[in-house]
This record gives sequence, C-alpha cells and structure tokens, in this order.
Amino acid sequence: MSVKISIARFTDPLSGLESALHIDQAINGKEKNCSCYKCPSKLTAVNGRGMRKILKQHHFRHPPDSQCVGAPETEVHELAKQIIRQSSSIVLPTKSRFNYVDSELEVRLQQVVFDAFVSAENSDQLGVEVAVTSFSDELKCQRLKEIGIPTIEIDLSEVPRQIDLKRIEFEVLYNPENRKYLYQDSPFSETASNSERESVSFLYWALSVITKYPLQTLGIILGLILFFKPRRRRW
Ligand SMILES: [Zn+2]
Repeated sequence: MSVKISIARFTDPLSGLESALHIDQAINGKEKNCSCYKCPSKLTAVNGRGMRKILKQHHFRHPPDSQCVGAPETEVHELAKQIIRQSSSIVLPTKSRFNYVDSELEVRLQQVVFDAFVSAENSDQLGVEVAVTSFSDELKCQRLKEIGIPTIEIDLSEVPRQIDLKRIEFEVLYNPENRKYLYQDSPFSETASNSERESVSFLYWALSVITKYPLQTLGIILGLILFFKPRRRRW
C-alpha cells in the first residue's frame, strides 16, 4: 500500500505550467491533472471534510497497485517555493518583515541558483533558500558574499509529512525561529514599522500556541463562551 501524500504536482491543462498543489486546495475526486513528484502515477484527491479529515481521509491517493512511498522532501520544497512566489511579504530572522513586489523561482546569478529571489519596491533584493534535507555549505555562503546578495535559509527539515496548508504557510512565511542569514551585507532599510514588527511577533506567538496546543485552545475558547453566556434567571 502506498503512502498518503499531501502535496501533488499539478499541470495546468491550458498552459502546461506545473505547480505544487496541497490537498487543502484540491477538489475532492475531481482534480484531473495531479501526479506524484516521485513516480509517474496520476493521483486522486481524497479531500475529506469534518470527521473524515480528522480520520486522515484527506490526501492524494495513488492507483491501487502502486508501491510508491512518495518523496515528502521534494513535495514540501516545491510547495514552499510556490508559497513564497504567491506572497508579497516574508519574515526575516530579525523578526522584521521584507515586503516584495516581485518574486522569481530558481534564479541563477553567477554560480549560485536561488530557490527564490524576491525584490522590494526600493530595489532591495533578497535570496531565499528552502532547506528540507540538504543545507547550504560554506562554499555557497562564500559565493553569496562574492555576489553580495543578502540571503536567508528556511529550515523545513522538521516539517511533518502530513502537514496542513495553513501550518506550512506559517513555517515558510512567518516563523522567525526556523530561518537564518546565510549572508547579510548591511541591514535593510527597515520597511516594517515598529508596530508592524510587534504585530508580527504577536502573530507568531499566537500561531505557535494554536498549532502546538489546538485542542487546549479550543477547550479554552469553549470554556470562555460557556462562562460568559448570559444565563436565564429562574423565578
Ligand atoms: Zn508516487
């Protein structure tokens, strides 16, 4: 029996362009153009809702005779790059935010290929590396220094195989704890104001609590609702 996977390769039938598709974005049983990143199999979206989602009936399914074990590292890497391309802002290791108006994937500059390369309105540029199984070495850092492009590396090695889309978006765009500078020239002209930075920190804290303790959070919310619910007085 093949493994349940959360991310498929989607081929646009009109343009032929490929992108990563998370099961949370797929239509149940109807996605026709999904295939596996590891094997040539066509995949079926089993997009369960409610209890079916909780019971893990929420994944891309291989054909019944497939022995594929999937390649989560490739899938996570592809989806992460796409999340960066579709966003317009990413949190830096310093917890400030880099807002960008342009983004490209797999950009080669001299001897370095960046997973993503984003540019701000004021022409600041940032390279982004996404590490799932392999991390940048000394040689790469040296080359980045020679080119002079500030670059961060996001560590997604601990991301679970059955990750939901919201959590991976948080890990890619907002979690300042999983990223570091591979090369940093001088601090960027700070585009994020202090209040923005505070709200990013608060958002990070709130999201990390909710993703770590989902049931406890739900319990506290329900408790508060019941506590503050107006009670009918009996005469
Ligand atoms: Zn496969």
